[in-house]
Amino acid sequence: MIQVTDLKKNYGQLQVLKGITTQVAEREVVCVIGPSGSGKSTFLRCLNQLEESTSGRIVINGHDLSDPKVDINKVREDVGMVFQRFNLFPHKTVLENVMLAPVKVRKMSQEEARKQGMELLNKVGLGSKADVYPDRLSGGQMQRVAIARALAMNPKVMLFDEPTSALDPELVGEVLAVMKDLAKEGMTMIVVTHEMGFAREVGDRVIFMDQGIIMAEGKPQEIFEETQNERLRSFLGKVL
Ligand code: ADP
Ligand code: MG
Repeated sequence: MIQVTDLKKNYGQLQVLKGITTQVAEREVVCVIGPSGSGKSTFLRCLNQLEESTSGRIVINGHDLSDPKVDINKVREDVGMVFQRFNLFPHKTVLENVMLAPVKVRKMSQEEARKQGMELLNKVGLGSKADVYPDRLSGGQMQRVAIARALAMNPKVMLFDEPTSALDPELVGEVLAVMKDLAKEGMTMIVVTHEMGFAREVGDRVIFMDQGIIMAEGKPQEIFEETQNERLRSFLGKVL
């Protein structure tokens, strides 16, 4: 579903991604861990073209992003993204938030978008909140709406950038549960997370990024229990 080859990203003189090569298969859940500043967010932002990469190749669902003939907006529609901060539209109700993109971008009818929106809100356990405004929701509820909103575009891949880092500890579980359900349904996912329990349990594969490279990559057991990589061991020592 995703192929990344020697992806590099510089900001001026600063080399943030120094040659990332990896693949993500359809239905695979890849968790990305690593210290702050290692380039995890930049990597995700390159994948959905919020950032232009400096060099390298990204192919998503058969579309080469560097091919000038590729319609980046179409490719972007295949990639749902959920950020640390739930950037819901405050002046729209929960349901309107979920309906907006399908109506505007996909030209879906109001009626169809409403039906789909309700299905998605029920899926994330928030059908009863359809008509309230985001400021009435807890952080965990807002983040579940953000997931429903991303799903409304029927993406092929979902990217999550620390979706639970801004939440009070007691709200983390409800968001992880929704993500776990999504993984079980076979969604292809890349999840940047500090939740090592989630990475271990739900991840098919774990990528450890450090200083702009993939320092280690493997099955959760290989990463969390068997690694001999010193930098990874030191990182895990701090977060576990
Ligand atoms: P992570 O998500 O792993 O914490 P980031 O991808 O956010 O790391 O950042 C990696 C590095 O890139 C950091 O040194 C950060 O300061 C730098 N960086 C990120 N975005 C920008 C930007 N828009 N302009 C300049 N430097 C940036
Ligand atoms: Mg980040």
